[in-house]
Amino acid sequence: MRENALFESHFDLIPFGIYVVDAATYSIVYSNRVYIERFGKHLGATCHKILYERDEPCTNCRMVELLTPAGLPNGNTLVFEHFNEVDDRWYQMQVRAMTWPDGRVVKYSIAVDISDLKDTQNRLAEAHAELALKNRELMRLSTTDMLTGLANRQRIDALLGQALNDRSEAVSLIMLDIDHFKRINDRFGHLAGDRTLSALAGVLRGAMPEGCAVGRWGGEEFLILCRKTVLADAYLLAEALRERVLELDLPDIGRISCSFGVVEAAPEETVDRLMSRVDQALYVAKELGRNRVEAA
Ligand code: GH3
Ligand code: MG
Ligand code: MG
Repeated sequence: MRENALFESHFDLIPFGIYVVDAATYSIVYSNRVYIERFGKHLGATCHKILYERDEPCTNCRMVELLTPAGLPNGNTLVFEHFNEVDDRWYQMQVRAMTWPDGRVVKYSIAVDISDLKDTQNRLAEAHAELALKNRELMRLSTTDMLTGLANRQRIDALLGQALNDRSEAVSLIMLDIDHFKRINDRFGHLAGDRTLSALAGVLRGAMPEGCAVGRWGGEEFLILCRKTVLADAYLLAEALRERVLELDLPDIGRISCSFGVVEAAPEETVDRLMSRVDQALYVAKELGRNRVEAA
């Protein structure tokens, strides 16, 4: 049959596997060159047996979607991705019903192996997920003080900038500094000094009220940003912290004390101006004998 041969030679030119099955019996009527090279010649066998090792038509077979109720080709072309468990490969399938030159209604399927593409997609998705995790970790590291685990200077500075941008609520600042910290280093060594800083950070973190954030400003200085807090309340917080610090008894090191400066941001006050005022209040607390709170 000339028409048939013409058809088949066309299908042979297509560089993907194509097979044609009888819509009524599922037996393979034709397969093109690529299909035969890859899977073998299966004329007469059913597609479900050959491709999926099943005795019955596949439950997910999409034949009905290609036919009219009278069983004629309905003109639909379906394109979908499909994983074949038998050969462990992903295929992009294009299926359509047509009338074969001998008059039979058939379904032809073009199967493109997209397993490598799927692998690449999966690896890409994994890489993206890993990158997102790494980014989060990097973000955390870049805003955290390594020794104490508190917010670092950059972070607390950014929070302060944000807080001062919104002047609808009072903003207060507490700066504190360990008294005679150098002596601890000198007497017990730098590691003991580090342990002291960590222990103090733990006290501060555990005592932070809602709305307040504590960070390590540098060395043995810490900064506490208090949102929605007026000067009098910030003062009370500093006083409470001062007493908490006195209760801390460090093994082999003993007790420490801290000095505190407290300020409330004036309307329109810049970060620099506020920082210089809180620094000054802390300086006064040191000058007046340490282990005390001074408000500006
Ligand atoms: P003052 O009461 O006036 O604050 O006296 P001080 O000794 O605490 O202050 P000073 O500025 O003279 O010394 C601070 C010391 O803190 C000096 C520095 O070596 C030490 N220091 C800064 N950062 C660290 C750190 O990360 N670990 C340790 N162990 N020591 C640190
Ligand atoms: Mg000090
Ligand atoms: Mg200091």
